[in-house]
Amino acid sequence: MNPICRSFVIPAVLLAALPAAAQAAPAEAPATPAGREALAILEEAVAVPTVAGRGQVPVLAGKIRERLLSAGFKADEVSFTPLGETGYLVARYPGRDRKAKPTLIIAHMDVVEAKPEDWERDPFTPVIEDGYLFGRGSLDNKAGLSMSLAAVMDLRRKGWVPAHDLVLAFSGDEETQMATTAAMADALSNADLVLNADAGGGELDAAGKPFAYSVQAGEKTYADYRFTVTDPGGHSSRPGATNAIDAMSKAMEKVWAYHFPVKLSPLTKAYLEGSAPSAPAEVAGAMRAFASNPDDAQAIATLTARPDYVGIIRTTCVPTMIEGGHAPNALPQSVTANVNCRIFPGTTREQVRKQLATVIANPEITIEFIDNGTLDSIESPLREDVMGAIDKAVHERAPGLAIVPGMSAGATDSMHFRAKGIPAFGVGSVFMRADDEFAHGLNERLPLATLDPGVKQWQTLLKTLLN
Ligand SMILES: [Zn+2]
Repeated sequence: MNPICRSFVIPAVLLAALPAAAQAAPAEAPATPAGREALAILEEAVAVPTVAGRGQVPVLAGKIRERLLSAGFKADEVSFTPLGETGYLVARYPGRDRKAKPTLIIAHMDVVEAKPEDWERDPFTPVIEDGYLFGRGSLDNKAGLSMSLAAVMDLRRKGWVPAHDLVLAFSGDEETQMATTAAMADALSNADLVLNADAGGGELDAAGKPFAYSVQAGEKTYADYRFTVTDPGGHSSRPGATNAIDAMSKAMEKVWAYHFPVKLSPLTKAYLEGSAPSAPAEVAGAMRAFASNPDDAQAIATLTARPDYVGIIRTTCVPTMIEGGHAPNALPQSVTANVNCRIFPGTTREQVRKQLATVIANPEITIEFIDNGTLDSIESPLREDVMGAIDKAVHERAPGLAIVPGMSAGATDSMHFRAKGIPAFGVGSVFMRADDEFAHGLNERLPLATLDPGVKQWQTLLKTLLN
């Protein structure tokens, strides 16, 4: 079936240009002024291809600045700091107590590359279809950016004054170098708290009913290690006592077989207890058992055997690439392998490197940490005021919904703030089904139905926290 036959394919930019009465707005389209503004910001943002190397982040930042000024922000409250071809935007919303440490809302303006020939629709033309807005960044992270921005602009227009300064800080290379994030974290290192629009959110079941809201309060540290072994080599007809491929194979076998010690932190305990009710029956018992006794061997075995759960209870390291030898008839002179680790918060990358060396027990093999700019991760304590405000904002939208703090397997901008000791929480307001999730992938899309309640969620969260 041709999808075009059963749906209106009107580029969103055209739709926005029509007078309101002429729009055949889908039922999911936002009805509140702030929700409509979030959609307008989102469409505008998707149309600016803020992919690394294209120099478009300053263009988007300029549009955001215009909008902020239109909502009553003063010119000197909004700044853009260029960094190479990208940069970051900071907008300060003055509070009653100007001396108190500010609360930050962070989001990122850049997006992952998208090749138009692979997409069903042009990735940089926002298209509304079947209750979704399609386009690169429509979810990651221009949805979070648009909803938090629209929420804040609406509050400012209505004359609300926060208890202390509220700062919007939008980075420009989260998906690549995070250099703007690092600079932003340096410039705003006196923050009391970070609310990240790029993590956390509501999960809907197949019928569209919310079943959990996740709050991201920690991340595992991403780390790659390069293992190298060299050998004099020689003619393959004259094998000696050692072989570089053999040595590396044995080392990789040991890495693969090794299990790092299990860990339980306040955050993972809260996650295991909070998500057990919605977990498959066969693991729910193990989750509860491990949360109450991290020495429970049966629970450890059950969780370790499942790819979805093993990373929650321990650091994981796996061989991911190997390269070696130079001719079919020569003994290999060198072999390198890459081992990728996701490190439990609180363990350093150097501790993991040392442990890997102990595991392979072969001093001939060197192990080198490959620096990609990530930082050792620490988890944020689950602050009562923050969790209380999240509770209020989420339950206003979905009464009784399970709120589950957790950690993600990879890094977001929050890493740079947590490394400075600033608690950071992923409190995204997108509610969606798992099968709608195409972040970084083809045909990325956002359900329009999330916009109105998503903006409201931000406003309740802010008004509760900064009352
Ligand atoms: Zn993102």
